[in-house]
Amino acid sequence: MEYPFDDDQKTFREHLSRWVDERLIPRAEELDESGEFARDLFKELGELGYLGIKYPEEYGGAGLDQRYVYYTILCEELARGSMGFAATVAMHGSAASHMLFEDGTEEQKQKYLVPALKGDMVCAFAITEPQAGSDAAAIRTRAERTNDGWVINGNKIFTSNSVYADFITVVAKVDGVAGAQGMALFLVDTKTPGFRVGRQIEKFTTHCSDTAELFFEDMKLPLDCRLGGEESDFKSAYRMLTVDRVITAAIALGNAKAAYTAALEYAQEREQFGQTIGSFQAVQFKLVDMLATLEQAHLYTYHCAAMADRGEDVTKEAAIAKIVAGDGGNEICQKALNIFGGYGLTMEYPAQRYLRDSFFPVIGGGTSDIMRLIASRKMGL
Ligand SMILES: Cc1cc2nc3c(=O)[nH]c(=O)nc-3n(C[C@H](O)[C@H](O)[C@H](O)COP(=O)(O)OP(=O)(O)OC[C@H]3O[C@@H](n4cnc5c(N)ncnc54)[C@H](O)[C@@H]3O)c2cc1C
Repeated sequence: MEYPFDDDQKTFREHLSRWVDERLIPRAEELDESGEFARDLFKELGELGYLGIKYPEEYGGAGLDQRYVYYTILCEELARGSMGFAATVAMHGSAASHMLFEDGTEEQKQKYLVPALKGDMVCAFAITEPQAGSDAAAIRTRAERTNDGWVINGNKIFTSNSVYADFITVVAKVDGVAGAQGMALFLVDTKTPGFRVGRQIEKFTTHCSDTAELFFEDMKLPLDCRLGGEESDFKSAYRMLTVDRVITAAIALGNAKAAYTAALEYAQEREQFGQTIGSFQAVQFKLVDMLATLEQAHLYTYHCAAMADRGEDVTKEAAIAKIVAGDGGNEICQKALNIFGGYGLTMEYPAQRYLRDSFFPVIGGGTSDIMRLIASRKMGL
């Protein structure tokens, strides 16, 4: 069962799918092993116009109407090849560059957004701190207003893309303003004195997407680095982070699709007791359950992307899409590993990578239980 894509969207997926099969999948294992960011592939995506798919033509984007549906296809397809690589592209194209597009000055967009869409610059988004994960309003990074600009002090953790980032959208608390009201976004050029990347965090998932700690030590920024200006509140960032959950669902979906396809093929080839393991009802039932979850996640995710394209509020739906595709994708990958038997536990087959990577969308962008919390509030509970 498939979401009713139009012909242009189908053609877009076909072209992209070919690129993923020919360029990304042959490198996926090597990237997972080395943990390296595939800068060449990233640049290639920029040259092919994929990094600008969500943005207007004046900044080198594609100027499409249904930008979220297209962006969801992009992230899903990339994750079918490598979730680590897809995570890098998703973080780059989501909150990090989008807030610059929404609230940056024209000069900032020309200096940072245009090269970012070409693949010449990499960007990151930093809100999480050691003591403030789910409770993002508890961040302690402070922005102090001076006569001619801002001084930022604090630190961040788990910032994806930050090792290679040329600029980072950083969330800080403006001195003297309490609670979520005081939260503001700052455009930080990583060449700014006082900015430092700390330890790179080793993780068992999405190896080729770097994750690091950041430090801001008396980092001085010009006045216009506060995105949205002096009076900005956190509302547009909150809206953006909400829609980003659809993109996290998309990468969960792509990875789960790869796991399901690999398990189905294996079940049709592997023989035991003189027959293919796919002829055993226990294996068939697993594959049917996997397909049911996959289709549910597919339909829900694209339905939600289309709602975002229509400008509708997707707070509840995006949270549910992330639960359905994130938790569902993780279950699919566990079943896939099981179908591969002992071979599933070896590094010779990608089943273990699919399962390891499937944990990223369960946590990244807000845990599944935080998504339940957000949805339940919208349900009036
Ligand atoms: C690989 C990776 C990449 C990431 N990339 C980025 C990035 O680029 N930028 C960025 O800013 N952040 C990033 N993050 C951070 C991520 O968003 C946080 O890890 C996530 O929001 C959870 O925060 P936490 O890890 O502090 O967990 P905690 O908030 O400490 O949660 C721990 C547990 O408590 C539960 N919990 C917490 N509060 C509640 C509650 N009120 N009700 C019920 N249960 C609750 C959670 O569900 C979870 O099970 C990344 C994380 C990872 C792992």
